Amino acid sequence: MKIHEYQAMEIFARYGLPVSGFDVVTSPEEARAAAEKRGGSVVVKAQVHVGGRGKAGGVKLARDADEAERLAEGILGMDIKGLTVEKVVVAEVVDIDREYYIGIVVDRATKKPVYMVSSEGGVDIEVVASETPEKIHKHPVDPERGLSDAEAAELAAKIESEPSVAAQVADAILKLYAAFVGSDASLAEINPLVVTSEGVVRAIDAKMNIDDNALYRHEDIAAMRDTSTDTAELTKARELGMSFVKLDGNVGCLVNGAGLAMTTMDLIKQYGGEPANFLDVGGSSNSDKVATTLEIITSDPNVRSLLINIFGGITRCDDVARGLVHALERVATDVPIVVRLTGTNAEEARRILAEHDLMTADTLDEAVEKAVVLAGRDS
Ligand code: GDP
Ligand code: MN
Repeated sequence: MKIHEYQAMEIFARYGLPVSGFDVVTSPEEARAAAEKRGGSVVVKAQVHVGGRGKAGGVKLARDADEAERLAEGILGMDIKGLTVEKVVVAEVVDIDREYYIGIVVDRATKKPVYMVSSEGGVDIEVVASETPEKIHKHPVDPERGLSDAEAAELAAKIESEPSVAAQVADAILKLYAAFVGSDASLAEINPLVVTSEGVVRAIDAKMNIDDNALYRHEDIAAMRDTSTDTAELTKARELGMSFVKLDGNVGCLVNGAGLAMTTMDLIKQYGGEPANFLDVGGSSNSDKVATTLEIITSDPNVRSLLINIFGGITRCDDVARGLVHALERVATDVPIVVRLTGTNAEEARRILAEHDLMTADTLDEAVEKAVVLAGRDS
């Protein structure tokens, strides 16, 4: 799950990172009041789930409260990479001397968190990584032992030579790691971590992605979810406890079990089709759930055929078939449906589906092939 800069700042502050004072506002008037409180000169920052806000015009410096109000007016409602700005942060301005990058990501190859630090902060780190990779220092962290003071000091020394500043950088490196682990983050980064003209280290940007599977043990972070940009389908699927990911293809998929859903998508590709979504309906497939998933999938105008692939283990195929028949009474759709049910009570299920003129397939290959052909047909 992505969280906003201001939310990551709140978490960073809890771990003692040197973040700037700020307020989150939703109107120009509030921005003015927040600027007045901080003595007038502030930085106004769009809160959207994308990077590069600065370049897109979503981060601006204001000299006084008047200007803060005007800038907030311009930034609120602005479109940044397809996202509408609904909130802005009004933060204390920092006098920047130099900008660094520090960040941690989980690296699948080494199965460890990898710390990255660079003296090239404030700019797009992906650009630094591709053009001047030697300027990014990487350090895999042993997750069992954690990050030691010595390791942090060593990393800090790679980007900062002045001892009193390097000590502050090392401290920030340790605290960011603590925030990363403590929040079950998959990414935590400060870009830029700045050194002020007085030699003080400050975090003026914050980014964190949280592992969805760990949200159950972070109620406070789970509550940070911003659903304003979620589609209605996604929200519905989440409420029902299903995993739903929208994709760009035209073959809708309704499958039980994440592994089976993956296999189904692979097969669709193999038969020359493109899946319209990933959807794991989970264990029990009552008619209510099936109806909702049908609504979710067929509300996508790209969907030209729907493949239902259910393995009946504990879930009984005849239950799913009945659920589907009921669901189709509720959800009107022209999208052709191919059903492949196998496992417990599959015979009975096929009989029910045949009675209602639903297209079935005996094997998964046959079902996928049919669905792909139907999706590719001109209509
Ligand atoms: P991003 O573009 O989404 O990464 O947003 P940032 O929060 O990193 O802001 C972009 C840039 O604005 C930073 O790299 C800084 O150069 C500048 N900036 C942000 N806050 C301040 C500030 O308090 N003082 C000054 N002088 N510049 C700032
Ligand atoms: Mn930044």
